[in-house]
Order: sequence, then structure tokens, then C-alpha cells
Amino acid sequence: MGFNKISLASLCADICSCMGVEPPRSAEVSGGALKALCGDRLCDRIVMYNPDAQAQWLVEKYPEIFERIISKSRVRLPMATVMPSVTPVCFATMYTGAYPEVHGIRRYEKPVLTCDTIFDAMLRAGKKCAISATEGCSVSKIFLGRDMDYFIMPAGADADELAVEKGLELIKSDKYDLVVIYNGMYDSVMHATYPESEDAMEWLNHHTKAYERIYDTARDIAVSKGHRTLIGYATDHGVHTNEAGRGAHGLDIPEDINIEHFYDIVGE
Ligand SMILES: [Zn+2]
Repeated sequence: MGFNKISLASLCADICSCMGVEPPRSAEVSGGALKALCGDRLCDRIVMYNPDAQAQWLVEKYPEIFERIISKSRVRLPMATVMPSVTPVCFATMYTGAYPEVHGIRRYEKPVLTCDTIFDAMLRAGKKCAISATEGCSVSKIFLGRDMDYFIMPAGADADELAVEKGLELIKSDKYDLVVIYNGMYDSVMHATYPESEDAMEWLNHHTKAYERIYDTARDIAVSKGHRTLIGYATDHGVHTNEAGRGAHGLDIPEDINIEHFYDIVGE
């Protein structure tokens, strides 16, 4: 297994270009795949679903689970995430377009990012942003302090579902240009068990089914309100089984580094 060639750092500028927004100041050059999907016309809405730790090898090994996403995606985007391949480092790169040595989160820690992010870029362009995430998770912490709306669901077994339901509500409200929805239960359960345990696989199923609901809602709202919406299933890093037999990540190995995102445009 080799490493994917396209860096996750090239995603942020690509997302911004779909809305005609100037990317964050430290963003790497756009990969261009999403802009190519957009064609000559811009999108006016973006919905990102961020399920944690969906390794590319899981997509390849379990096509029956991922089929429900693949069938809704015109672009499959294999990428290499950044090192160390842990959640706050990778999401910081996803939403700044910068490598860890530039955005400043270089290990498992969750400070509020001081460098320019996609949310700052969107706000400068007059866009409204919202994050729906679960208490304690990286996405609920590192992007705080911006003039946008944060919906943090209390920790617990139903936190992921609450974050999805809030995300659906935000999409339906038609108030936000960028909606980010984070789910972390597959990650939590595979750390406690192993990547292909029955309980972990149940959550993999849950995340892909959650995306169907998010996709269908975003499409319905885009059609009824006349929007053109970029929508993505966008994970942060992969996973491997460590010597103790548990799910783990953080290493510079293809299992942890190789990820695949899925994108489509719905509406007009
Ligand atoms: Zn993660």
C-alpha cells in the first residue's frame, strides 16, 4: 500500500474556490477537483459532514457500507492527511489549508487556532457559518472565537445523533452559507475495541446513514430555496490496529494517512 499523492492541505482553497471566496491566508494551493466539479458556476452553500477516522482501506474493504455515499458522490477524492495523524492536527489542516508547522497544532492538543481559517475567510466574504459538534471534540474547540454560531451537543452516547439533528435543523433554517457537522463515535468505539469490531462497524454504518439524511435534506432545501450546494463526506485520518489489538492512529503509515473524501453538488 503506497501513500496517496494529494495532500489534505490542498482541500481548503478548493472548497473556498467553489464559493468564490478568497482562501485562508496560509492555505496551500487548491487541488482543483471540487472547482472542476463546480464548473463555471459557483456554489452559494457548503455542507460538510466530518465523521472521524474513516480510513480509505475501510471504504475499499466495505463497499456495501460506503455504497450509499458513493452513489451520491460525483467526486471521490483520495488524499494523504498530515502528520501526526491525530484529530486536532488533521482538522486544523482541513480548515486552514496549512500544514501543522504553519497552523501550529503539531500534537494531540486542542487550542483555539490563532491562524486564519476557512471560517475567517468566509466571514470576511460576508458568509454565515455554523458548527454542530459534540462536547470535548476537536472541532468543537479549535475553531472557537469567531463571529459565527457553535452548537455543541452534550457528551454521551446520543451526542453524535444530536449533532446530526442540529445540523439538519441548521440546513433547513436556510440561514447559513457554511455548515460543518462533526461525528466521532466510530473513532471512540474503535479505540475502545478495534477498527472492525461489531460495535465499531455499527457506527460506520450509522455515519454513512447520517450522511444520507444530511445529503437528502441539503438537496431538498437547495431545490426548494434555489441554492447550489457543495456537500461532502470528509474525514480527518485513517486507523490501524496496534500491538495491543486496539484501534489507533497517529503514525506515518498508509492505514493512518490515506483517506478518501466524497463530494457532490445538489440543487440548481
Ligand atoms: Zn480523528
